Amino acid sequence: MSNIPESLRSVNARIEDAARRFGRDTQAIGLIAVCKRKPAEAVREAFAAGQRAFGENHLQEALPKMDALADLDIEWHFIGPIQSNKTRPIASRFDWVHSVDRLKIAQRLSDQRATTATPLNVCVQVNISAEPTKSGVALDEVAALAHAVDALPRIALRGLMAIPRAHTGLAAQRAPFRLLRDTLEELNRQGLRLDTLSMGMSADMDAAIAEGATMVRIGTAIFGARAPHAHT
Ligand SMILES: *Cc1c(COP(=O)(O)O)cnc(C)c1O
Repeated sequence: MSNIPESLRSVNARIEDAARRFGRDTQAIGLIAVCKRKPAEAVREAFAAGQRAFGENHLQEALPKMDALADLDIEWHFIGPIQSNKTRPIASRFDWVHSVDRLKIAQRLSDQRATTATPLNVCVQVNISAEPTKSGVALDEVAALAHAVDALPRIALRGLMAIPRAHTGLAAQRAPFRLLRDTLEELNRQGLRLDTLSMGMSADMDAAIAEGATMVRIGTAIFGARAPHAHT
């Protein structure tokens, strides 16, 4: 039998716990349930247990799932790498995109977002641990990209997202998250008005909350381990 409602409760309890421990307001920390490689039924169960925001990192997998769940009022977050020929469905079907790391992608998303819809909420993904093969814009290029994305008409630039290199231990996990928060604060000093730090996954959510995460993206701790798959 599935334990999704119970896992969801324990993740929410962990968020509350970390918020209390680090002097954060629980209400300021959103939970995105990452349902990649999990069936629509699992999403339905989490929704029935009160979860509303869900994240997917692979478009081809997400679209049929979104169709199967069209009767539910889900807030959909795209969190994966974006190919430029895939921007149209992302612009039209998702509420948030966390993984913008090139201006060309942001321009396409803006052009393709319907004028009747609210502007697409976007985070710029930062390669915070400077890993050569990882997605995300380099730290020294964040400001230029963020200001350019912020100027696009159909996009609401909300903040920054990062997936740091895996570390064990709270102090080591906190360091890259602090760097992301410092970067966001610097952008706000430059005149942007960013309110979102999308950071923290199952293994490092406490560290992310300690450093100011406003959205944590949690998969495994809610839905269990994923089967290995070619596309992630
Ligand atoms: C898979 C994924 C997550 C969730 O990771 P877990 O370790 O399963 O919690 C979060 N963010 C992104 C971008 C992901 O691809």
